[in-house]
Amino acid sequence: MDFPDNIGTPFPGMVFKNKKDKDSPMNIVTVIGAGLAGSECAWQLAQRGIPVILREMKPEKKTPAHTTEYFAELCCSNSLRSNQLENAVGLLKEELRRLGSLILSCADETAVEAGGALAVDRHGFAALVTDRVKWHPGITLVPGEVTEIPEGEVVIASGPLTSDALAERLQALLGENCDLHFYDAAAPLVSAESVDMERAWFGSRYDKGTADYINCPLDEAEYDAFWQALTTAQEAEVHGFEDGKVFEGCMPVEVMARRGHDTLCYGPLKPRGLKDPRTGREPYAVVQLRKDNAQGSVYNLVGFQTHLRFPEQKRVFSMIPALHDAEFLRYGVMHRNTFLDSPRLLDRYYRLRSEPRISFAGQMTGVEGYVESAASGFLVGVETARRLLGRPPVNFPQETAVGALGLYVSNQAVTHFQPMNINFGIMPPLGYRVKGKRNKNAELSERSLTIIEKLKEEVLP
Ligand SMILES: Cc1cc2nc3c(=O)[nH]c(=O)nc-3n(C[C@H](O)[C@H](O)[C@H](O)COP(=O)(O)OP(=O)(O)OC[C@H]3O[C@@H](n4cnc5c(N)ncnc54)[C@H](O)[C@@H]3O)c2cc1C
Repeated sequence: MDFPDNIGTPFPGMVFKNKKDKDSPMNIVTVIGAGLAGSECAWQLAQRGIPVILREMKPEKKTPAHTTEYFAELCCSNSLRSNQLENAVGLLKEELRRLGSLILSCADETAVEAGGALAVDRHGFAALVTDRVKWHPGITLVPGEVTEIPEGEVVIASGPLTSDALAERLQALLGENCDLHFYDAAAPLVSAESVDMERAWFGSRYDKGTADYINCPLDEAEYDAFWQALTTAQEAEVHGFEDGKVFEGCMPVEVMARRGHDTLCYGPLKPRGLKDPRTGREPYAVVQLRKDNAQGSVYNLVGFQTHLRFPEQKRVFSMIPALHDAEFLRYGVMHRNTFLDSPRLLDRYYRLRSEPRISFAGQMTGVEGYVESAASGFLVGVETARRLLGRPPVNFPQETAVGALGLYVSNQAVTHFQPMNINFGIMPPLGYRVKGKRNKNAELSERSLTIIEKLKEEVLP
């Protein structure tokens, strides 16, 4: 990568493209990390006239998953998932597209054929983002690893594989009780409306407290078939940098199942104290689902942290009779992932409540996925620019996918916070009945895009 000549600066290592930025550093924003979130954020700030210093440790130092010198490197799949408006990530893309996102425009320009999905030419995409960011007159690049949190306005977008030195600084900033996680062990999430309540019931163990759980019973034959499938299902690849720590203290459900035919019946599938109201008896095994959001539209499978491949999770967990048609809003994952306990730390604009000059963006805020990371970078860029320009924030409401993500990660009512993909479950329902899931989702998207169209004039630079 070529960098512009240093034109002289009071800050060591800092390289300004525009002389006027050197002379008035008060409104400069430092963005750490030029991944999906950092590139989008830097671009949005610069497009609004806010000078940006973008600090990226590549090519000097690379995370264990990044291999090129490009920004916005897609370190695994080249797919940005569905492009259809009946799918929440399709809606999120369309919102970003209409609002002038850098990542979406580069993705559209480098798209390869992928049916209803948006997949890109991986290198072409990253090279285009790099080029646009690198040559933007308002963005000044400072290469090298960041090991201290800089002074002034800062956006930290260093991703799921944030370097150790910076992670240590963050831990010190966030305090003893360490609201920073290094590994992700999440159980799958399903939408409440997709659970077959003819085959499940609401209740709690021994009827204690309120009937908060959805209990999904299995008889002996159903359990046996489920156990056989679970213990032989294909696991996801373990990356070289993900050592045994990923699974420490949190055993995947398939590993527990392999310990013995009935081990799960003494663990997460324990039926004790759960009498099925239709039979008056305790079933052979019971899978419990616990509410994952305040509205009760999303439920997690309790104790089902798993390392199975996503198609295998769908195949095996759909064998639980009440989940035969379940809509999986997020699959279980167990991998290296640096992320914050955001509901306790951030506001809806991804700003640190205790120190608002610092914002976070991308996967480390607990949004999950390429597009979600770009969306958080977009929101931080727009809102930070507005604040520095003395304008009020744009209140992206929960009806929009961009707004719903920010509101979800900053929602203090979420107690066991786990990274989240965008899904319609975190957006408010329509308030009227629409026949068929596709039609309903299409209406949810239409509702959101009507709002986005109204906000567009205010948002676009
Ligand atoms: C192995 C792996 C596979 C994945 N596969 C997928 C997938 O297939 N689909 C999907 O949607 N999501 C996937 N993800 C999640 C993916 O990381 C995010 O969706 C997305 O890349 C996050 O964007 P980001 O901007 O937050 O972080 P990143 O894109 O990782 O960008 C962070 C940037 O910060 C830089 N950086 C880190 N520390 C420092 C420092 N101290 N100083 C300066 N720069 C620093 C890094 O070099 C990097 O360029 C995967 C994650 C991992 C780890």
